[in-house]
Amino acid sequence: MQFVSTRGMAAATSLSAALSAGLAPDGGLYLPAHWPQFKPAAFADETDLSQIAQRLLTPLFAGDPLAAALPEICAQSLDIDAPLRALPMPNSWMLELFHGPTAAFKDFAARFLAACLLRIEHEGETRELHILVATSGDTGAAVGAAFAGKPGVRVWILYPDGRVSPRQAHQLGAFGGNVTALRVQGNFDDCQALVKRALNDDELTSRLRLSSANSISLGRLLPQMSYYAQASLRHWRAHGHTLGFIVPTGNLGNGLAALLARRMGLPIGAIVLASNANATLSEYFAGGDYTPRPGIATLANAMDVGAPSNFERLRALFATDTEVRSALSAEWVDDAQIRSAISTSPAHYGTVVCPHTACALVALERRRAAGDSRDYAVVATAHPAKFDTVLAPLIDAVPAPPPALAALLQRPSHSEALANDYAAFSACLLR
Ligand SMILES: *Cc1c(COP(=O)(O)O)cnc(C)c1O
Repeated sequence: MQFVSTRGMAAATSLSAALSAGLAPDGGLYLPAHWPQFKPAAFADETDLSQIAQRLLTPLFAGDPLAAALPEICAQSLDIDAPLRALPMPNSWMLELFHGPTAAFKDFAARFLAACLLRIEHEGETRELHILVATSGDTGAAVGAAFAGKPGVRVWILYPDGRVSPRQAHQLGAFGGNVTALRVQGNFDDCQALVKRALNDDELTSRLRLSSANSISLGRLLPQMSYYAQASLRHWRAHGHTLGFIVPTGNLGNGLAALLARRMGLPIGAIVLASNANATLSEYFAGGDYTPRPGIATLANAMDVGAPSNFERLRALFATDTEVRSALSAEWVDDAQIRSAISTSPAHYGTVVCPHTACALVALERRRAAGDSRDYAVVATAHPAKFDTVLAPLIDAVPAPPPALAALLQRPSHSEALANDYAAFSACLLR
């Protein structure tokens, strides 16, 4: 399979080259040149996530040097449970994606990307690989966990000081060793700008071998299709019809993965993007222009994105805006509604949810109120215990952290302050 840029001004390239580059040379994002098609029966009775991923990704890896390693890459990185649980109301489920080492869905993609990057050979290259990652809270931890202790790799996590939950901050600084956490005096966009500038700095890249693990990486998008495939196949086999998904959305990576799985033939119904008060997508889907803007801070901090970086991919998949708008829909949810969904979640849903998942629950309630009785799974993107300070005032008992998160929280945590200043950042990388 060849991979092409959304902007159409760069040469088609191999999977390995697209994974290593991150961004296409014309500034666009990579997508497969065409979409392999599957029927549900092609998966026979497979239920294992890594096996389903392997089948789905085989045509996308075909012809690439990484193809031979795909079974091993899937087995090593997608060994995380993704249970689909029935909610205590008709036609409603929850797809739990928070059972990985850092308790958010970013673990699936970060582990897969790391397994790929660590296997791509660069002839004659002996320098250490520096992975730069800007994070709004969860990506940094997932990438840190995926690369911690790996020889020949250093990870630099940039996060906005004071804009991530206390437990997220602790987690980011708890890896130590080859993973450095930098708390930036700025917002997420500032962190992302520092990373982008470093990647484009010829002087720096002549001295250091740099790569990034940000949310536009193809290597994060592809594995995220696999849990939608697994859940929808399971539903199809049990009920004989499609399952829709309501996806908490920030940079649009996770929601786009659901769409791509549907495009490849998986039995997926409606896809609803649920944002926080950053309403860029909802406004577009309601018929307005796409107007990217600075992100605003909300209780669902990992989705505080005003310029969703995968929108460019979404738009490139369709000929017209009308087609985009008929393929998906989007809703936005304010902090008061997030609070209310969290406080009622134990009684209404028999479970406690994180602030991001709460946005999807509100969107589900709106669907039901509008008379939509189709089958939906709300996607639970993070474990609620990561957001204990948001939850504590709203519910009787915050659930305990799952074991892997508890272990990270037990470890000492260290981060370095970094001014929102490029010279300071590059000096830090070079020291
Ligand atoms: C990153 C994140 C999101 C948003 O996912 P995107 O792929 O950026 O749309 C939602 N919830 C949680 C908990 C996250 O960490």
